Amino acid sequence: MVKYIIACIDNDIEVLDSLYNKISRIVDSDYIVESYINKEQALIGCYNYIIAGNEILITILGQDSSKMSVEKFFIELHKNSPTTRNILFEDVATVESLSKIINESSLYQIIPRRFDRVDFEYIILEAIKQNAQDRRLRDYQRVLESAVEKRTRELNDINVKLEILATTDSLTGVKNRRSFYESSAPMIRYSRRENKELAVLMIDIDKFKMINDIYGHAAGDDVIKIMAQKIKDSLRKSDIFARLGGEEFAAVLPNTSKRGAQKAAENIRKEIENLEIKTINEEKIKFTISIGLTMLRYDDVDLEAILHRADLALYEAKREGRNKVCISKEELNEEN
Ligand code: GH3
Ligand code: MG
Ligand code: MG
Repeated sequence: MVKYIIACIDNDIEVLDSLYNKISRIVDSDYIVESYINKEQALIGCYNYIIAGNEILITILGQDSSKMSVEKFFIELHKNSPTTRNILFEDVATVESLSKIINESSLYQIIPRRFDRVDFEYIILEAIKQNAQDRRLRDYQRVLESAVEKRTRELNDINVKLEILATTDSLTGVKNRRSFYESSAPMIRYSRRENKELAVLMIDIDKFKMINDIYGHAAGDDVIKIMAQKIKDSLRKSDIFARLGGEEFAAVLPNTSKRGAQKAAENIRKEIENLEIKTINEEKIKFTISIGLTMLRYDDVDLEAILHRADLALYEAKREGRNKVCISKEELNEEN
């Protein structure tokens, strides 16, 4: 149980007795009235109370013969007990020391040496009341802060989850179409501005309808899922890869030359060609993909224009018999 200390400091025993009597009459056993004959003793006494978990509620500082200045006493105490309400006898302080006390620690009241001339008990009771109010406020603030902190953490978690939900394709875990557009647009703007090469792949599973028809929709889902993971693994971390819908995927490869992109696409095509997926009925599924490839061009107005070219190249790959990488005719023309 925390005790609240009221420390009286004066070298006149009569003054200390009088303070003690007046204060003891108005406080209960939660409070301890301490008497010290000088500031050094008072500081040590107060520190001991603070270390033991008690609170220095009020100090009343009168005359003493110690070398320590009034302001030093309050400033030192303030470091360890900033909430203490400090009362000072008026004949102890100079204007200079007062300004230091007010600026660097705190001062609650200045009372005359003949403190029976003021409503002394009222001053003490008021200090006790204010201190209790402050304490309640501090407790309330602590509760509030921790509640707000907890709520903020929860909201952050929810926001992260929502962000993942909104940008991720639920079947494959790769980016969805919306997220693909959101991440690609700035990448393309950057590449155009910096004159960097950038490749786009459009990827589609060949005769996927047949896979569904033969092995069932669930097996079809597995094919999409495993293929997506395979392609993702074979791409670079900086590449943007997404499921645009159904069994159609796209990839943006920044900082990639035409030759580099052709190699990457051909690797992906081969990996899928060599892949074998087992259904839950232990049936083996083999399948292939077709890829349309195009490069970012200086006259591309937006992502749509690039995707359209990649789409045409993909269509070309399908037309040429599937399981193929086809490059857009604009790129081919430039080669000739
Ligand atoms: P092509 O070689 O010309 O691409 O032929 P395809 O059969 O792959 O193309 P088509 O577009 O005719 O058929 C795609 C099929 O993919 C039709 C649709 O039912 C199926 N599909 C789309 N989304 C999903 C999915 O999430 N899971 C499964 N299992 N099938 C899907
Ligand atoms: Mg297909
Ligand atoms: Mg398709």
